[in-house]
Amino acid sequence: MSLARRFHKLLIANRGEIACRIMRTAKHMGLATVAVYSDVDRDSAHIMLADEAVLIGPAPAKDSYLRIDAIIDAARETGAEAVHPGYGFLSENADFAQACADAGLVFVGPSAETIRLMGSKSAAKALMVNSGLPVVPGYYGDQDIVALQAAADGVGYPVLVKASAGGGGRGMRIVGKADELAEAVASAKREAQAAFGNDEVLLEKFIARPRHIEVQVFGDTHGNVVSLFERECTLQRRYQKVVEEAPAIAIAPERRAEMAAAARAAAQAASYTGAGTIEFITDDAGFYFIEMNTRLQVEHPVTEMITGLDLVEWQLRVAFGEALPLRQDEITATGHAIEARIYAEDPDKGFLPSTGLIRQWRKPSGHGIRIDTGFRVGDTVTPYYDALLAKLITRGDDRSQALERMVHALGEFEIAGVATNLAFLELLMSHPQVARGEVDTGFIEREISALTLAGPTAAPLDLAAACVAVLLHEQSEHIPPSLPSPWDRTDGWTVAGRRSRRLSFRYGAERYDPILWYGRDGLSMELGGTNARLQFVARDDAMFDLCLGDAPERVSVAWSGRDLDLSTPRGHLALIWIDPFAADVGEVAAASRIVAPMPGTVTRILAQPGADLPRGAALIVLEAMKMEHTLRAPADGRVTAFKCAVGDVVQEGAELAEFEPAMK
Ligand code: ADP
Ligand code: ADP
Ligand code: MG
Repeated sequence: MSLARRFHKLLIANRGEIACRIMRTAKHMGLATVAVYSDVDRDSAHIMLADEAVLIGPAPAKDSYLRIDAIIDAARETGAEAVHPGYGFLSENADFAQACADAGLVFVGPSAETIRLMGSKSAAKALMVNSGLPVVPGYYGDQDIVALQAAADGVGYPVLVKASAGGGGRGMRIVGKADELAEAVASAKREAQAAFGNDEVLLEKFIARPRHIEVQVFGDTHGNVVSLFERECTLQRRYQKVVEEAPAIAIAPERRAEMAAAARAAAQAASYTGAGTIEFITDDAGFYFIEMNTRLQVEHPVTEMITGLDLVEWQLRVAFGEALPLRQDEITATGHAIEARIYAEDPDKGFLPSTGLIRQWRKPSGHGIRIDTGFRVGDTVTPYYDALLAKLITRGDDRSQALERMVHALGEFEIAGVATNLAFLELLMSHPQVARGEVDTGFIEREISALTLAGPTAAPLDLAAACVAVLLHEQSEHIPPSLPSPWDRTDGWTVAGRRSRRLSFRYGAERYDPILWYGRDGLSMELGGTNARLQFVARDDAMFDLCLGDAPERVSVAWSGRDLDLSTPRGHLALIWIDPFAADVGEVAAASRIVAPMPGTVTRILAQPGADLPRGAALIVLEAMKMEHTLRAPADGRVTAFKCAVGDVVQEGAELAEFEPAMK
């Protein structure tokens, strides 16, 4: 950061919660702020917070938040003198740091050279070995498959194949046996090339049941380096952090001091400036460097909560060319802090990302609670960016108090309109093993059924909404209501002269069979022995008001085949309508269309039209919110036609392919 100097106007090259978070501190420090935004973000919170805002392009990140030229132009136009990249997007892009420097802008972060070095996990490991840090045994050399195979055999299985340029848990494969290596390397290389534009891989011994502990470091342009304690990020799903805390759970004081010293040595070896994080995995035997992140970390608030420091302020001071505000012995920590990442995703549907309008947003408040977010009620969650809705951070005098506050705050947080992982987080944070700190990085995956299956049950109002959705759907499609079933006496006309009709729905693992009664005085719904009057009025194709007994509510509905998506004031609900008469036709029809389960971009087409495929064969890869979803063959059969191409942005429910099940 040779350009370090006092500046007065800062451009924040990011969006969402982190853009808002950075602007708050910048304002406190008397800086003017410039936001950048894409088409879909024009009404976002981060624009409202900024003094000025510049449109930099259309929604897809590659056309806006990843456009180096557009961001540099925005800085020039507004007279910004410095750029804060936040995390994600261009924060670890060495070309961006260089472009800022070339344009005479202060880049709030380390030099392009340091970013480039640490951006390669292989190069970073080589440097750390030279600085005397323990690293995971492994191989980071020649990419020739013969060399890789020999190295893997030498390291011993299981082996982890990692993308050298990787991040966000992508491009990793566990290999259990020698003969699985070649395929895993090929697929990791494909993913790495597509995601990072670089297909280099390295190999590491797969450490069984490790914990992830990382150390926050800071360097300035005067050669000072300090560490700000560690964070535990062991609760992960698919190598991605879900919950983070500071300090680490049950760490011996000697190990703690050793890790901090190792991290400082590493930062010193890299002549590091600004905020950085040295990540380690640990087991009983020791701790091992895995990578360095050259930016502000998502979970930096837990460090702030125990140290009382503002890390963004420190970043800006270092960028001004000032010395670090505190010496190592002046940095102290008290209490314990925990952060939970609240995502727009549905844990009961395999963590499928969720999009839509936020209809309700009620935040918990109270002592020891911090919420970092870029969303408000009325905002829309789009498929273009990361699904992070908010970070909920709680602090306590000790871990059990912080945990208690977390569980309570999660229960009070109300978000409706999109699915969220709130209930999942509450179960996770209430888990007795989490309370005892008996966790490793595989904990969530092992406990997944306990954390998701105890899932929600549908309320009578939800089923009333589902029934109304079916009635309106039939009306709009001019489908005559199903005829009475000859084999099911509860359907159809009864001798008493009142007409009844049973509708069946599947919700998660449960089946519900409400009965609609058409009487002289109107419609009623019977469920679980109670009967209540049901009234409704359609507002438009996708919305209606209903009243069950005397409980009114407004509901939005989206159909995709027989999948029914309801948004009620209580949340988002995905049901399947089981139509007994459409069953045969329906199943073939369902099997003959491959539809997008969510909005996203088609990134790969993996099957040949006409080729015979086994059930489960991968057909199409869809990417949304940085997650990849593979759509598979629903049965043995073949794709007769693809209705999409690589690069297409598709809506939820869009038909992507026609599929012909094989004749049995
Ligand atoms: P950390 O190592 O800081 O914990 P992670 O690797 O878990 O961070 O997540 C950082 C990731 O956050 C980025 O790689 C990117 O996928 C995602 N991301 C980028 N920008 C944003 C944003 N504005 N809001 C939420 N997530 C983002
Ligand atoms: P990313 O750049 O995607 O963050 P990391 O190298 O930091 O990749 O690893 C992410 C996570 O993957 C770690 O936090 C840990 O849970 C797991 N992991 C990484 N390396 C190993 C390993 N050698 N053995 C077991 N787990 C590992
Ligand atoms: Mg990492």
